[in-house]
Formats: sequence, C-alpha cells, structure tokens
Amino acid sequence: MKFELTKRIKSLPPYLFVELDRKKQEALAKGVDVIDLGIGDPDLPTPDFVVERMIEAVKKPSNHRYPSSEGSLAFRKAAAQWCSRRFGLDLDPASQVCCVIGSKEAIAHFPLAFVEGETVVLVPTPGYPVYHIGTLFCGGDTYYMPLLEENDFLPDLSAIPGDVAEKAKIMWLNYPNNPTAACATNEFFQQVVDFAKSNNIIVCHDAAYSEMTYDGYVAPSFLETPGAMDVGIEFHSLSKTFNMTGWRIGFAVGNPELVAALKKVKSNVDSGQFEAVQEAAVAALESDQSFVDKMRAIYTGRRDTLVNGLLDIGIEANRPKATFYVWFKVPQGETSASFCTKLLDEAGIVCTPGNGFGDPGEGYARMALTVDQRRLEEVLERLRNVL
Ligand SMILES: *Cc1c(COP(=O)(O)O)cnc(C)c1O
Repeated sequence: MKFELTKRIKSLPPYLFVELDRKKQEALAKGVDVIDLGIGDPDLPTPDFVVERMIEAVKKPSNHRYPSSEGSLAFRKAAAQWCSRRFGLDLDPASQVCCVIGSKEAIAHFPLAFVEGETVVLVPTPGYPVYHIGTLFCGGDTYYMPLLEENDFLPDLSAIPGDVAEKAKIMWLNYPNNPTAACATNEFFQQVVDFAKSNNIIVCHDAAYSEMTYDGYVAPSFLETPGAMDVGIEFHSLSKTFNMTGWRIGFAVGNPELVAALKKVKSNVDSGQFEAVQEAAVAALESDQSFVDKMRAIYTGRRDTLVNGLLDIGIEANRPKATFYVWFKVPQGETSASFCTKLLDEAGIVCTPGNGFGDPGEGYARMALTVDQRRLEEVLERLRNVL
C-alpha cells in the first residue's frame, strides 16, 4: 500500500509547538534543567469548586449519554448570562450561543460553513496558527494582515487592497492578542464593523484572553461595538480564564445566522462536549469570578518580575496589560530563531521565536508567564550570565 497524503496536509507548516517541543525534549534528554516559557498553558490548577462540581456531575448517569452538539441549554444560558454581566450583551441562549470543544475546535471548523476555493480569509500575522489552517483545510486563500508595532499591533484596514476586500468573506481578529499582547480600542472595533459592513465580511473575534487583564484594564467584547452583532461571531474559552486547557470547553456567541452555521457544521462532525464538563463549566461561569482576580494578581507579579528584569538586562520588552505573554525585541544582531536557539542551548530556557507566528514577528520573541516567581528569577539569572 502507498498512502498518499493530500496537498492540504503536505502543505501544512510544522505546527509551531510540535517543533519547539521536539527541541525541548532533546534538551531534557541531555539532562538540562529546562525552564519552559514556550507554550501558553497555565501552570496553576483549575479551581477546586470546578473540580468538585465535575466529581458530582461525572457520577450522574444522565450525563453519561450523548450530549447535544450545540451544548445543553443550561450551559448556553450560563454563557449568555456571563456575557451579559461581563459585557452587557443581550444574547438569546437558544439561537446566539453554541458550546464548543475548546475554542480551537470551533475556530478550525467555523470556516467550513463559509470558505471554499477562491474565498479569501483575512488573517492577522503574527497570529494564532489555526486561523490560516482552518482556511487552508477549506481550500480558501489566506490574505495576511500584518500586525506592526507602529500601528500598535492592529491591522491597517486601509492597506487591504480593494479586490482582496471584495473577495474576502471572513476576517479573523484576536484581542487581547496572542502573541503581541496588544489590546484593541473601541475606535478600532468600530472601524472593523464599518469595513465589514461595506465589504460584506464576517468578523470572527477570538476573545480567549478577555479576562487575562491587568492594572485595572477591562477588555471589551467585539460584540459590544454598535453594529457588531450584524457581522460578528466571538469565540470564548474557559481554558486561560479558569486554568482549564485540558477540559476542552468554550463557547461561540453572536449573530444568530453565524451561530446557526457553526452549529450546522459541528452537529455533522462532533457530538458535543461531555455534559459533566459542561456542568463544571457552568460552575465556573456562575461563580463570583474572584478566582479570576486571584489569577490576575499572580500574573501581574510574574509580569513585573520578568519585564523589570528584561529591561534591566537591556531587552526591549513591552509590559503587557493583558494576556500572559511578554513580547519583546531580540537583541541587536540576533534573529528570532538565533536568539531562541541560543537561550535553549546556553541557558536551558524555552521561548517562542516571533517569526513562528508569521513573518512580521521576525525580530521578536515571546515568553509565557507560566512558571512561578522563583523560576522567573532563575530565568533572569541565566539570561544575565548568557548575555
Ligand atoms: C489559547 C488560545 C485559544 C484557546 O484555545 P482552547 O481551544 O479554547 O483551549 C484560542 N485562541 C488563542 C489565540 C489562544 O492563544
């Protein structure tokens, strides 16, 4: 037998973190005490009250059957109410909310409803790889919108050529942003709504980091923008907010036709998330959110330790007001790859080369605040020795 992979699979770029993990495994095998700041995966546990609710929920036989693909009504109501409390959104749980098996799943599947050959999808770069890959799997064409520091890492909509805007059907956005940690202004979101309406483009906003904010900053939902509900769908995740990356749960909200399209795709490829996980997620969404405040305090402390230390060493790091990433310029004379390789080889530190998220990320690197203060001090100590 000869197994011939499709062009879509053969043309996949190596998944960023797989490559990083391979290098890290090599170092570990050599006995290096590796400090991993590479992947955006919280090191702290899911809150106890969520775990307790899961233990109860898993014992209920009614939860052992197939869930519905769109999620239980109880979950969708909890998500709608959370969005109402948090953003002032008025969402109908029946038609404007869909449970997703982690937002990555939905981000990858949503394009199946709207993208086919010739369809252009506007994708920010540097950015989360799944926006492009979802497009590629549907046979569409990605048009990259560069996120440049001089524009505060917001795409310049006026730089999108007219014929591209005409063929485009979806625009992906992600604020607070991974990897740059940039935040969107309400004015920018308003420009996006106007652009989307005049060009008939669906806006998909990835809001995975909406709760990971510091110094009193409160991130808006794209859907709060006047007119956004006519053009948009927003992807939320419990992964980062409640340290639940392994649980695979989130939700999509927004325009009823767009949510219905996502449900149509999903009902044909999956059978929903385990109802017990949905019940535990309800506990997280309905809680007083003091857990989130605790996490904010911890990440603020880590951020200040790392950023102050980097600045001290002479590395131009931005102090993020959201996300758990520090995005910084690599030192003069280094590339993203050469610097990250040097850190791993000489200091046992894993961080992510900025160009791995797209060409305009060249010259930058990203560190995730996913180790404790003591390890961050160790990172700075090692950096001082190497640089
Ligand atoms: C972590 C992350 C997500 C969330 O993924 P889940 O599948 O919900 O765990 C989505 N978008 C971005 C940009 C992320 O960094």
